[in-house]
Amino acid sequence: MANGMKFDLIIVGGGLAGAALAVALRKSRLSIALVEAAAPRHAQGWDQRVYAYSPANAAFLRELGIWERLDHDRLCAVERMDVRGDRNGALQFSAYQSGLAELAWIGESSLIHCELWESLRRQHNVMVFAPAQLKDMVLTEEGAALVLEDGRSLCADLVVGADGRDSRVRELAGIGSSVTPYGERGVVANLRCEQAHRGTAFQWFREDGVLAWLPLPDKLVSIVWSAPDDVAADLLSSDDSTFCERVAAAGGQALGAMTLETPRAAFPLRLMRVDSMIGMRVALIGDAAHAIHPLSGHGINLGFQDAKELAALLCGLKPWQGAGDHALLRRYARARAEEPFVLQYATHGLNRLFSSRHPAAALLRNVGMNLTDRLPVITNALTRYAVSGKL
Ligand SMILES: Cc1cc2nc3c(=O)[nH]c(=O)nc-3n(C[C@H](O)[C@H](O)[C@H](O)COP(=O)(O)OP(=O)(O)OC[C@H]3O[C@@H](n4cnc5c(N)ncnc54)[C@H](O)[C@@H]3O)c2cc1C
Repeated sequence: MANGMKFDLIIVGGGLAGAALAVALRKSRLSIALVEAAAPRHAQGWDQRVYAYSPANAAFLRELGIWERLDHDRLCAVERMDVRGDRNGALQFSAYQSGLAELAWIGESSLIHCELWESLRRQHNVMVFAPAQLKDMVLTEEGAALVLEDGRSLCADLVVGADGRDSRVRELAGIGSSVTPYGERGVVANLRCEQAHRGTAFQWFREDGVLAWLPLPDKLVSIVWSAPDDVAADLLSSDDSTFCERVAAAGGQALGAMTLETPRAAFPLRLMRVDSMIGMRVALIGDAAHAIHPLSGHGINLGFQDAKELAALLCGLKPWQGAGDHALLRRYARARAEEPFVLQYATHGLNRLFSSRHPAAALLRNVGMNLTDRLPVITNALTRYAVSGKL
């Protein structure tokens, strides 16, 4: 493979995780190439890809100088969470009772994505290749050589795979992964409600899936209905008013009647674990390294924490160390071993518990919720874990 333009680091994939890593390295001495198939664009109206960002990640984005540049009229703070089981189980979380300013922030993916790209385009140490796609890659002890689909060649000490759940970097590096499809799709849309949500996020564990309403400004909510494939197909094919009535009814009309604000979209859901987050001259971040059920709203939150950890290690490189230093990569893998593992198992377990039709499982989940709700020590601990990623 021919040698090409030389960098310290090549990031393949400029989604939220890859772009955040590039921006987090803005003060480093590293020369960076960012290869991305399609640069982000601002949504027309509201973007239906809406995520919950933990306060820990809002703080990370603040450190990157991104948070304060966002249009805050498009963000909503979650002050309360109301979680319901399928048989009178209930759990309530409150920022006020846990001594926190907010439990999470809800905002559009494109809002943060475009701001990260604004920042990295101004960065002196990043060269952006977009639209461009990774085609081939050879990894040796001396370095990594990449070929793009358009024939250009790049080489570097380290390649970061931030190229999402079907990562080509992961595949070319020979890092194994195991995938468990849930047989479910996440149906998403934004809806306008009759009544104000007052900063409350709702979640219902139902027989036909997990339904979440995430508060957006101005009586809007973003819904994620993680539904079995046949239910998802029904939700997608019904007409707008039937869909809205079904969503409102599934949530017990908690916010009155609803109307559709954006088209619907759906994403297949699966659990994906990798054999390792690193390989020779390779590190994986974001969905390339772990895919998780959206019921806990942690996917990109894990990706941001990967980016933060890897950037901190790369910023601390000694003058004689290269970016692909294996000891550094091992430190990264150790630092990120626990959190994705714990969250993947916890959300997977919850999903299984709530999708089981066994009467004992129904009893266990609803009694468990009610007991947890009566023990403020546990709800506060859970709240703090969700907010900071630490118990
Ligand atoms: C229904 C649903 C709801 C969700 N809700 C939440 C939530 O509330 N909170 C949360 O934290 N997470 C949530 N997630 C998860 C979140 O969407 C993902 O974790 C996040 O988008 C992953 O970001 P990423 O940058 O790692 O990967 P991606 O967003 O997949 O980005 C990968 C990038 O790599 C590029 N790329 C791929 N291959 C190549 C190649 N060969 N060459 C060049 N470029 C390439 C792609 O164009 C893309 O831009 C949800 C997911 C779903 C499905």
